[in-house]
Parts: sequence; C-alpha cells; structure tokens
Amino acid sequence: MAVPKRKTSKAKRDSRRAPNMRMIAPGLSVCPQCHSPKLPHRVCPVCNYYDGKKVIED
Ligand SMILES: [Zn+2]
Repeated sequence: MAVPKRKTSKAKRDSRRAPNMRMIAPGLSVCPQCHSPKLPHRVCPVCNYYDGKKVIED
C-alpha cells in the first residue's frame, strides 16, 4: 500500500477542506440586496427585495 512520504502540512490540509467550510447551509441562497441567507426564488424576509426590487412595502 502506498504511504505518504511527508506529513501533510496544516496549510495543505486546511486548504483541501476549505470548500466544505461554506457558511450557507444547503438549500439556501444569499440575498444580493442585504447578503443574508434566504430561500431561493422567494422574497427576502429581511429586506423584502426580490429581483432587485422591493416587492413588499411596509
Ligand atoms: Zn435581503
């Protein structure tokens, strides 16, 4: 069985795992208006924006 010659450095190990360190849970997107997590294809509950327009006036 092939064995690594060198111990993997912390930088190499952490950069390998970096794509998994996403701040947004699966099934969520980020509001382009206020950058808070929101459900995709739905009006943002924080800023009431959808497709760049405020769709709910309060
Ligand atoms: Zn928003």
